Amino acid sequence: MSTEALLKMIKDEDVAYVDIRFTDPRGKLQHVTVMSDQVDEDFLDEGFMFDGSSIAGWKSIEASDMKLMPDTESAYIDPFYAEKTVCVHCSVVEPDTGEAYNRDPRGTAAKAEAYLKSSGVGDVAYFGPEAEFFLFDDVRYSVAPNKVSYEVDADHAAWNTDSEFEMGNLGHRPTYKGGYFPVNPMDDGQDIRSEMLTTMKRIGMKVDKHHHEVATSQHELGLIFSSLVKQADELQKFKYIIHNVAQSYGRSATFMPKPLKGDNGSGMHVNMSIWKDGKPIFAGDKYADLSQEALYFIGGILTHAKALNAFTNPSTNSYKRLVPGYEAPVLRAYSARNRSGCVRIPWTESPKAKRVEARFPDPTANPYLCFAALLMAGLDGITNKIDPGEAMDKNLYDLPAEELAGIPTVCGSLREAITELQADHEFLLAGDVFTKDQIDGYIDLKMEEIESYEMTPHPVEFAMYYSS
Ligand code: GLU
Ligand code: MG
Ligand code: MG
Repeated sequence: MSTEALLKMIKDEDVAYVDIRFTDPRGKLQHVTVMSDQVDEDFLDEGFMFDGSSIAGWKSIEASDMKLMPDTESAYIDPFYAEKTVCVHCSVVEPDTGEAYNRDPRGTAAKAEAYLKSSGVGDVAYFGPEAEFFLFDDVRYSVAPNKVSYEVDADHAAWNTDSEFEMGNLGHRPTYKGGYFPVNPMDDGQDIRSEMLTTMKRIGMKVDKHHHEVATSQHELGLIFSSLVKQADELQKFKYIIHNVAQSYGRSATFMPKPLKGDNGSGMHVNMSIWKDGKPIFAGDKYADLSQEALYFIGGILTHAKALNAFTNPSTNSYKRLVPGYEAPVLRAYSARNRSGCVRIPWTESPKAKRVEARFPDPTANPYLCFAALLMAGLDGITNKIDPGEAMDKNLYDLPAEELAGIPTVCGSLREAITELQADHEFLLAGDVFTKDQIDGYIDLKMEEIESYEMTPHPVEFAMYYSS
């Protein structure tokens, strides 16, 4: 809504607070709450000063002042707060020049949209992310901490919050890979998912369906496609609502890609299409009714996939999902049919719905950086006419070792992804969409996570080596 409409809403609907929200480089939504009587036209035009040095990956203490610029188009009423509060998502700008702060993910996403227009390839790119998640019993509500066990040798579960005597009759619990998708009582997430979707709809989000996913306690809600910055904003609301509705049921939601050993992980497939002059440019008469541009776009994604992993799969846990056998991709190949390659072309009769699905991203990705990086890789493919090669229509998990050996893969670890990003990031710098300083800062941030993870003794190591 416009600034005027927002101010009118604050007045007419007796809004008590304005929640100023922004996203840090790791993808976490942050906020600060302002009394609504402080919010006028000047406030919305001039922005809100804050200390950026406390946000991981942003400014150092010597140059910490930053400004949050509310985007009134993103306004929505918070569905959880007791006091009536309107939320606005913000971009971050330099207070002295008013220019976009180069490490602000939302600013990067806006620059990627502008770059698409200036490239002449298209006017708008649409993104349809499918972020899966798990719902577990929240240890804060249901299990005393001393009853939480870490079962390193069970071949199905790593993290088990149920002690044996509390588990009771398991007849109505889905077995591993047994969740997709019998009705309740096997599916015990129906009411929670419905409440999540209804809450999203109530605040104006475009959503369409929900279902149990393949793994135990794994779920998916459908978010309808939208343009880049808008969709990244939507995804932040999506996660916020999922976490908070889950908590209100005494459950805990996680978007961690692989919380359970031996069961499917959570992906965030990203469906993408580009439109120009009101027409979809991905529909055509080539493989799977794609256009030549769409094939080049796929070529760009597959070529840069390993560097993209740093943004699309940015956690150490991400690489426990990218293994064969769990509907997650490993091989850098594309196909209209199977789900085992990095890129799939979902079947559709309608040229308007023609899209390319990147299957490797997962929901720990910062949506602003993930969508922007995918678009930049695809545009690099179109600009440089990168041929994606032949489609791979076989089940890639079942290929004999000799055939597999020739197919490139995605990264096997976050450390590898960061090394790949160090070597391959020119495509991200085009049009100053990403900056070198931002990529360096991001790499430092991720190296902290990698070192913390690599230097921590793992429960599996105790099981394997303690008595050696
Ligand atoms: N959970 C699978 C993944 O890790 C995807 C399942 C599906 O195709 O929806 O990507
Ligand atoms: Mg799914
Ligand atoms: Mg999908």
